[in-house]
Amino acid sequence: MILKGIEERRREVYRAEMAAQVYTMRPLATAHDAQAMIVDILKTRAWKKLSIVRRCKVAYVPQWDMESSCDWKDDNKIVGEMELTVGNLSEGTVSHELAHLAKGDNDNGHRFHFLRLQFAILDDNSMGAAETVLPHYAAELLSRNLITGREEWAKPYLKRWGEQMGRWASWLKPYLRD
Ligand SMILES: [Zn+2]
Repeated sequence: MILKGIEERRREVYRAEMAAQVYTMRPLATAHDAQAMIVDILKTRAWKKLSIVRRCKVAYVPQWDMESSCDWKDDNKIVGEMELTVGNLSEGTVSHELAHLAKGDNDNGHRFHFLRLQFAILDDNSMGAAETVLPHYAAELLSRNLITGREEWAKPYLKRWGEQMGRWASWLKPYLRD
């Protein structure tokens, strides 16, 4: 069974990210670094293929009681803006917010489409993520009923987690059959 409630999904995705250390992955020192990272990603061919967003301005908001967020500044959704709050200056959180921004997917449901983009962005841009946090994150998503385990984009990561964890991940076996 797959979790469907928006609020429930949001909470569980955050927990999966926390468990796999996705959202704190590769800390950035300043908003300037986050901005440089975004400029770099938006220039890549891979990004241009998956999104029409061409610019995104980032701001650091030193608040403890707020979550990071993003939105579009124009009706065509070509220009975005992102706010990163305390504890969220990291490649992990910037990639999370970019996955929301990429295709106008901003209802906070964190559904398959969002997750697929998030994996693609991290895999393409964050060194080592494909071999470390992403396999773990995929397993966390599966164990929390956020994915079915049959998604083609998720399978390589689940497989890697199965290989890395050996018998500790024997629960994954039914999902790894072709
Ligand atoms: Zn989110």
